[in-house]
Amino acid sequence: MPLIDASPIALLGGTFDPVHFGHLRIASETAAALKLPEVRLIPSKTPVHRARPGASEVQRLAMLKLAVAGIPGLVADDRELKRNTPSYTVLTLQSLRTEFPQRPLIWLIGIDAFMHINHWYEWPRLFELAHFVVLNRPGFAVSQALSPVLAEVWQGRLTRSADALRERTHGGIYLHTVTPQAISATEIRNTIAAGADDSALVSLLPAPVLAYIRAHQLYLPENSPAL
Ligand code: ATP
Repeated sequence: MPLIDASPIALLGGTFDPVHFGHLRIASETAAALKLPEVRLIPSKTPVHRARPGASEVQRLAMLKLAVAGIPGLVADDRELKRNTPSYTVLTLQSLRTEFPQRPLIWLIGIDAFMHINHWYEWPRLFELAHFVVLNRPGFAVSQALSPVLAEVWQGRLTRSADALRERTHGGIYLHTVTPQAISATEIRNTIAAGADDSALVSLLPAPVLAYIRAHQLYLPENSPAL
């Protein structure tokens, strides 16, 4: 079906607990390389059945807004926090598809997350709603990562050209290589909990986010979730 408005919308979902340069650089780099006008960073709700993340939903969103302020093309999208359901990606994509019936939706995802996608709620439907651009992450390799069921989906949907993602609204998988960022939110939380000072953190996340963490005393041992 020909597209009326083929300008894609890219999406990066996560807990962002806290948002860090890994998230921001993969989003900006991929947007530039694939000529994506907009990347929406979508924080997930705190799952009710798991230990809560270190920061509240309000705090995670506040940090995300600080992080994207002034970065062209990056936008915080709070639809999962506002919704009164668990943060199932398929529901998020459905709401975006309703809003943007004819634009390609491109879900950016690290290979560490993609390798578990077959455990997500109604996962086969994800590919009926969006494309997936899979990004490298230090410590994870595509070849060893995929279960047989996912390897089959991968083989069937993999496209060698990013331009092909503009020709359809959904259904493709594209492997994109970004500058490796050995940064994780877990490492940041652990570093703060261990009492590190700001010099150990400035290379990992934006200064306004670090200032927010300090002002709200986030991720200190007494504020960490019980194990
Ligand atoms: P945590 O350590 O708490 O699990 P995280 O650093 O992995 O957090 P998330 O918010 O869970 O961050 O990640 C959101 C998305 O961003 C996922 O698709 C994840 O694979 C991707 N991502 C996060 N950090 C990186 C990174 N350094 N390189 C590539 N992808 C990343």
